[in-house]
Amino acid sequence: MGPLSSETPALPSGAGNDRQLQTKQGANATASHSLWVDVDAHQEKKCVVVMGSGDFGMALTGRLVQANYQVVVGSRNPQKTRARASGIGATVMQHEEALQQGEVVVMAVPFTHLASLPLQHLAGKIVIDVSNRNPATSKSLGSLSQAEELQALVPAAKVVKAFNVLSAYALTRGNMGSKEVPVCGDDEGARRQVCEIARDLRFTPLDMGRLSNALEVEAIPLSFFTEWRGGFFTSIVVFAFYFVLLLFQWSVCSHLQHPNKDWSSLNRLASSTVSIACGDTALTLLALCYLPGVLAAYLQLWRGTKYSQFPGWLDRWLKSRKHLGLLMLLNALLHVIMKLAGSPLSGRSDWRGNCFVAAGVFAFVLASILGLTSLPSVSGNMTWREFSFVQSVLGWFTLLLATLHLVFSGWDMLFKPDFTCYLPSHSQFVMVLPLLTFALKLPLLVPCVDSMLQSIRQGYDRTPSRTNNN
Ligand code: NAP
Repeated sequence: MGPLSSETPALPSGAGNDRQLQTKQGANATASHSLWVDVDAHQEKKCVVVMGSGDFGMALTGRLVQANYQVVVGSRNPQKTRARASGIGATVMQHEEALQQGEVVVMAVPFTHLASLPLQHLAGKIVIDVSNRNPATSKSLGSLSQAEELQALVPAAKVVKAFNVLSAYALTRGNMGSKEVPVCGDDEGARRQVCEIARDLRFTPLDMGRLSNALEVEAIPLSFFTEWRGGFFTSIVVFAFYFVLLLFQWSVCSHLQHPNKDWSSLNRLASSTVSIACGDTALTLLALCYLPGVLAAYLQLWRGTKYSQFPGWLDRWLKSRKHLGLLMLLNALLHVIMKLAGSPLSGRSDWRGNCFVAAGVFAFVLASILGLTSLPSVSGNMTWREFSFVQSVLGWFTLLLATLHLVFSGWDMLFKPDFTCYLPSHSQFVMVLPLLTFALKLPLLVPCVDSMLQSIRQGYDRTPSRTNNN
């Protein structure tokens, strides 16, 4: 199952746990150095100032403290924030006072309120901008990133964009493992230092170069299933095709040929037709996972090199295989469950019985998705928008389906008293792509062709210009 193989790096062992070297002395202590005792007395604590005691500020503070940083939180109201901050081992001060404590400052205050902070104290400091754009207004903004706007506000500071791809929730749970954290800024030394902090927090920093790249970094959490679009579109079109075909052949066409026949076959619409269409879609998507690899192999054989780019359409197709594979799994799962759940579970074969099964099965599948996306290794690979879409929108939809499932099963009790043609078969259509994929694959298995392909993939280059250059 090549296309489905995960490219996610393994989580470092003990991430977030091996910094428990400190011993808490007392929650009421005011100076940060009196809060902790280092087991390693030679290790000097680095100080980070976090401006803002909101969700993100406190989550990052907790993670920094775990990583043995001395953290000073800058707040408008230190009295109110003190108990919470000292509970996680940080000190709270007024903004001005906090800014005197360290050379690295995290701006965890909503971007629109940054101007109300004493920015004059930021001169010469490394200022980490963690802000994200508001999805509702981001399209109307110009081409300047928020980090660049902050840099314009404080020209004497070294602004670095970082950590905006993380969520407060995940930071608090400490389950982000080795997630990549893009870092960009104009000052190379500042960038390096922020990368080091990211590494200390058990993230993988990704040096994105100058601050002009911040717009790209700010777009990451806002991306909304961008890489899935091709797969979704393909899956929907394929499913719609098979569904309409089955509907026509099984219901409309047979009725036209036998006018006396009743329309009871339409009762099978919700389970049988969808179930078969899901199965057909799964097989087609599976073929679509393997076909581009075969086409790429022919192109490499023809060109005699792997060092020239694939055409755009093939490149996009190759990259979408993981998504196509997962959508294939989804369709297959739907097909299997609907087949298994069919009439034995519904207990009745009319439209209500079928809707009951369909709603239950879809609810089950969506619930499985919700469960899967709550696993750290899965949620760690999703943007915040994707995660909240799945957990929120799909969560409600699952609830609706589960409720409908119940309504269909108890229909009689709820609504008393008496609410009691000339085309190839769909199987032939479905076979086309798998057969084509196999037919193209077989010649590639011939030993001499296979060994040529392997040589090319190991670096052999038949292209004259390249050979001459070498
Ligand atoms: P938040 O919960 O609304 O908290 C922001 C904090 O900023 C407040 O608790 C307050 O702290 C301070 N603040 C609020 N209004 C202020 C004002 N007018 N002047 C000065 N300080 C003010 O926001 P957040 O979720 O922590 O987000 C903070 C930043 O992190 C944002 O730029 C956001 O885009 C970014 N971010 C958040 C997340 C996330 O998951 N939440 C993820 C990535 C990036 P005091 O009362 O202590 O002054």
